[in-house]
Amino acid sequence: MSVFSSNDFDDHEAVVFHNDPASGLKAIVGIHNTNLGPAFGGCRMWPYQNEDEAVTDVLRLSKGMTYKAALAGLDYGGGKAVIIGDPHSEKTEALLRAMGRFVQTFAGRYQTAEDVGMTVGDMDVLRTETPYAHGVSNGSGNPSPATAFGVFRGIVAAMRHRFGEPDLAGRTVAVQGMGSVGSTLCRYLAGAGTKLIVADIDPDRVRAAQESYGATAVATDDIHRVEADVFAPYALGAAINDRTLEEIQAVIVAGSANNQLAEPRHGIELAERGILYAPDYVINAGGLIDVAAEGPDYNSEAILERVAGIEETLIRIFARAEKDGATPETIADRMAEERFLGAIREAA
Ligand code: NAD
Repeated sequence: MSVFSSNDFDDHEAVVFHNDPASGLKAIVGIHNTNLGPAFGGCRMWPYQNEDEAVTDVLRLSKGMTYKAALAGLDYGGGKAVIIGDPHSEKTEALLRAMGRFVQTFAGRYQTAEDVGMTVGDMDVLRTETPYAHGVSNGSGNPSPATAFGVFRGIVAAMRHRFGEPDLAGRTVAVQGMGSVGSTLCRYLAGAGTKLIVADIDPDRVRAAQESYGATAVATDDIHRVEADVFAPYALGAAINDRTLEEIQAVIVAGSANNQLAEPRHGIELAERGILYAPDYVINAGGLIDVAAEGPDYNSEAILERVAGIEETLIRIFARAEKDGATPETIADRMAEERFLGAIREAA
């Protein structure tokens, strides 16, 4: 196993391994960059097959958080924690408390929140050991509503850029995945008069969307290729891949799923086909903006106003991408780097 010579190592500031034999906790915290402020990023619990996988994940995810926080306008850097273990069978209160103590050793330089395999209730347990566990039940709680609102405003931005006007009435959006974010987004879209086509592997969730929003249901294998203005991935990563790309009918791809492009070249191919892609880490930053604001002054109304700023950020990205002849995700990365690398130049 290598860290410094790993392909995913990108001048990370720290990668810290932790072992707590009493609880069985084995965890790694990656701190990518703290130029803008303390490293912020969720804690993931996953049954990694081996340590290499866990290290790769923490390197990639912590770097991603630096870019995401920078473009969300937050004064935070990027970090991430991974716990090696099965969240269904190996998560205990002792393990969560040990994780809280591990987070506390960073004294705020790394701050954590919920991610895959962790819940708001788990954050409550971490909080008993450290004030640097966020997204707790008596704080900002579940970030999904803020994420959904941000994606909704992101879709409006894509409409403005692609069609010259933001109106969603009468437009059609194909939503892949009717979980926490996808179902809340449908509420916003239905309220705006949008026609909805939905798919999920869970038939109950599909039925709920049909009943609540008059959505049309299609098979999960077909959702990317229906006639729609927007294809919105809200399920798993890699929704845009060699198989789906050529079949997409929509002119906009905008959803909350992380890592929507199976490979970077798929972003270039989307642009070549005239499909406007809203970079995932920009459009899905609402939850981060929400949870990073937790504290005594937390106000969910004020947070939604900040989340709405995702619309303007995307408009700037789309305009610059067009001007520079680059893809939106390339421009997003550049703009993030201008902010977090520029911070150090300004301070010098
Ligand atoms: P979720 O688990 O609540 O929902 C995912 C939904 O996708 C589930 O209903 C599941 O049944 C469905 N699904 C799984 N495989 C599918 C398939 N092949 N086709 C169609 N549907 C399928 O997750 P969520 O919290 O709604 O998040 C959705 C996505 O957004 C995830 O990729 C997540 O990482 C990302 N994201 C979420 C947040 C947040 O605040 N929750 C923030 C940023 C990014």
